[in-house]
Amino acid sequence: MAKTLSLIVPVFNEQEAIDASFARMYAAMSALPYAFEIIYVNDGSRDSTMAHLRAIAGGNGNVRVISFSRNFGHQLAVTAGMDEARGDALIVIDADLQDPPEVIGELVKAWENGADIAYGKRLKREGETFLKKFTAHCYYRLLNAMSAYPIPLDTGDFRLLDRKVADVFLKMREHNRFLRGMSGWMGFNAVPVEYVRHERVAGSTKYTLKKMLRLAFDGILGFSYRPLTAAGGTGVALMGLSLLGFVALAVIAATVGAAPWLWGLCGLVLFDGLILAAMGVQGAYLNRIYDEVRGRPLYVVAEKINSKDKE
Ligand code: UDP
Ligand code: MG
Repeated sequence: MAKTLSLIVPVFNEQEAIDASFARMYAAMSALPYAFEIIYVNDGSRDSTMAHLRAIAGGNGNVRVISFSRNFGHQLAVTAGMDEARGDALIVIDADLQDPPEVIGELVKAWENGADIAYGKRLKREGETFLKKFTAHCYYRLLNAMSAYPIPLDTGDFRLLDRKVADVFLKMREHNRFLRGMSGWMGFNAVPVEYVRHERVAGSTKYTLKKMLRLAFDGILGFSYRPLTAAGGTGVALMGLSLLGFVALAVIAATVGAAPWLWGLCGLVLFDGLILAAMGVQGAYLNRIYDEVRGRPLYVVAEKINSKDKE
């Protein structure tokens, strides 16, 4: 059977961009030698986006639309599209043509050459403010330094996932989702495809500062324990420091004499250290609870040989 590609497009208030973007996406998908479906996820748009989607789906049997009851956010919209997709490979793309649909062909080529994940890597970002580019640049580097798993630099959610990767994704039901981090957590053969990120074709960004900050925190809290364990390390360091202080004070007191408040100061540092260390211990338990509650798969299998599993 011929393979099918699923293109997943999250949309939120994209009435100005949707028609132009559909035309380019449809052309790009039609140029590939695969059957395809385009899945739009309307993330609670309050403009005429849904009317546009009805018209598009009315005229094209391979366009499907899922419409949320309200705005649940980009990451959940993409997830709903993945739940719905039936393809052998899933491609996630923004609706505003910032990710050029023509690059889909290159993602597919990487997949044909054996990539399980082909992710768009931004060589250049056009038409975005200096502040956005600068904060994104710093954030990805900070995240990568903090994360226990590699999260490729300068990548967004524009990527292709093979069906077996998508199936693992679908098992990860965590509420606070950071898809590009989850992709890094899963491993697999991930291949970068470089592209220039263009200016938005129409309308303005739907990622408000609040949404962006939330996503940034989801990335750090979802993939690093450091914020939780940092207090413990600081506490132990403070306790060590205070003990050194006590020894030094004992020597000084025995020779030239020390002011009594210095003992108090050392005692204060010691108890602050103790409290922070105790918080670190609580943090360690919290880590474990967090791991259990999220219920991620315990491990991810890429391949089995001579497996006795039923197909
Ligand atoms: N989007 C969404 N829900 C939201 C915010 C954004 O589905 O709450 C969609 C949006 O329509 C677009 C994609 O996610 O297709 C990326 O959003 P946007 O282009 O506004 O973000 P930016 O490129 O400015 O970071
Ligand atoms: Mg955009």
